[in-house]
Amino acid sequence: MSETHAVVSARGAKRWADGHPWIFRSDVVQSPVGQACVVDVRDPRGRAIGTALWSSASEIALRLLDSALDTKIDAVWWHERLARAIARRTAVAPVATAYRLVHGEGDGLPSLIVDRYDRWLVVQLLSAGLETFRAEIVSALVKLTGCAGIIARNDASVRVREGLSRNVEVLYGEVPDEVTVEENGVKYVAALRTGQKTGAFLDQRENRALVASVARGRALDLFSYHGSFALHLARGASAVTSVDSSGPALARGQQNAALNLATNIEFVEADAFEFIRAEVQAGRRYETIVVDPPAFAKNRASLAGATRGYRDLNLHAMRLLAPGGLLFTASCSYHLTKPLFLDMLRDAGAASGRRLILRGLTAQPLDHPELVTVPETGYLKGALLEALD
Ligand code: SAH
Repeated sequence: MSETHAVVSARGAKRWADGHPWIFRSDVVQSPVGQACVVDVRDPRGRAIGTALWSSASEIALRLLDSALDTKIDAVWWHERLARAIARRTAVAPVATAYRLVHGEGDGLPSLIVDRYDRWLVVQLLSAGLETFRAEIVSALVKLTGCAGIIARNDASVRVREGLSRNVEVLYGEVPDEVTVEENGVKYVAALRTGQKTGAFLDQRENRALVASVARGRALDLFSYHGSFALHLARGASAVTSVDSSGPALARGQQNAALNLATNIEFVEADAFEFIRAEVQAGRRYETIVVDPPAFAKNRASLAGATRGYRDLNLHAMRLLAPGGLLFTASCSYHLTKPLFLDMLRDAGAASGRRLILRGLTAQPLDHPELVTVPETGYLKGALLEALD
């Protein structure tokens, strides 16, 4: 048993019973003593319902760790849970040296992210409660992976809501600024300290393989970051245009193209919305297009505006397709749910004046599991469309 406990309202207890791992502060009727710790949680009748991480400053007060009662959350518990998460990735390891080892709630390890980049790990400890287990987590990860170093990318803004500082620090061994990794036979350099997310967009690995398998003709990679899709497109396409607004990301893209001896990629620093409009205006056509924008809907309030952004982007991409051309389009906004994503594509398709067929729908890859009971954890949606004429 842990030293302290929390009592939650019937509504809070029901959230857990319904399969959501979070209980909000407004549903905590009796708070534990500490600022951040592990606590036993009881329902209004005093019955134990599980063990959780407690964050006193956060709106998300309790995150379910274990629904088995009388569980001791100690070094052995972390080691076992982390070992199960790592084992879940066995099928990914043969195709990539960079992938997600722990995907927070999707692995039963709320607020913890661990990404592997070859022999180094990048972790994010995203709640105050989780921070209290830093030593146990680091020690278990070292034992389980034999990694050369671990760095914490604790610069994520959600940490502020937990009352935590934002920083980037080495937690174990030595960690280089850049690491060369490989996926599906494509090499790329990930900037672990300064890159977006933990250094790369690992969640698109399976979609990049899909795109590589169908790429042909003139190709366009919009929102390319350091060119991961572009490098895959370059295998089947005659020429690839890779567009992003980030200069540093494109500079790494050039580096990555050289690393793969790809000479058919052109990198363009531009606003993707302006670029695509100008291309439509100029009457350009592409045989293969990838549209992988950042999350436009950061919250529910911005969903309507974000949906217009996605629709606009996709509508122009559809108009740019050559007859028989292929468009792979994605959204990583968790507020834009799967049904809303499909509605948006239908609206864009109707407005584009093109006849489009759906060749495939994709969701999250093997290393980013989602909770069936929490649809928002399935944030990534993708569709492969083909222009019939
Ligand atoms: N496709 C990439 C990930 C893209 S993430 C991959 O597979 O690795 C989204 C990218 O969009 C980021 O690199 C960001 O710099 C870029 N971006 C954001 N707003 C943009 C805009 N208005 N125009 C062009 N690029 C933009």
